[in-house]
Amino acid sequence: MSERPRLTVLSGPSGVGKSTVVAHMRKEYPEVWLSVSATTRKPRPGEQNGVHYFFVSDEEMDKLIANGELLEWAEFAGNRYGTPRAAVLEHLEAGVPVLLEIDLQGARQVCETMPEAQLVFLAPPSWEELVRRLTGRGTESPEVIERRLEAAKIELAAEPEFDVTLVNTSVEDVARELLALMNVV
Ligand code: ADP
Ligand code: 5GP
Repeated sequence: MSERPRLTVLSGPSGVGKSTVVAHMRKEYPEVWLSVSATTRKPRPGEQNGVHYFFVSDEEMDKLIANGELLEWAEFAGNRYGTPRAAVLEHLEAGVPVLLEIDLQGARQVCETMPEAQLVFLAPPSWEELVRRLTGRGTESPEVIERRLEAAKIELAAEPEFDVTLVNTSVEDVARELLALMNVV
């Protein structure tokens, strides 16, 4: 087994619990570096610029793409999201385990450009539970929830493309499994 820190990509349908798992993991293991993406989405209450995302305008996103500053980018449910390339490469070069929390389209791009990356799929215990979590979070309008559930069907069907699947029944268990996959514990 390689001890070299690997680039790990965590994907899964909206509402499955990706942010919750990552927040839990990083509280205990701050040595894992989570890439901060740029997005054209508006901040949710409590989200801070530079911490959860870099919140950018459409024009700023156009520039990031045109200048080749993103490792990957995708449009998801009406907004664009992308991973700043330089910070990811700097951390990997410094030997820091790097985690990207991105959508399916982004995961596919990383798989192409950085084949050594490990792709982890976070799956819900059931479709009903996914709907419950996404609705229960209370951060999106019914229209946006509908769009995200449409995307979720496509993402769930792509699960076999990933190296590993973790089912998010327990946040603590999934966080531990993810850390083990990243060779952190
Ligand atoms: P994502 O980042 O994948 O869109 P979130 O982390 O925002 O999802 O989680 C969506 C909702 O599901 C949140 O309200 C969160 O508290 C809840 N949640 C996350 N993981 C679990 C779990 N294992 N059991 C029950 N609820 C969960
Ligand atoms: P949210 O709006 O709920 O924060 O994120 C919506 C979706 O966009 C999630 O699936 C999330 O993983 C994904 N996402 C966040 N950042 C990026 C990114 O930089 N690139 C890509 N491709 N997807 C991202």
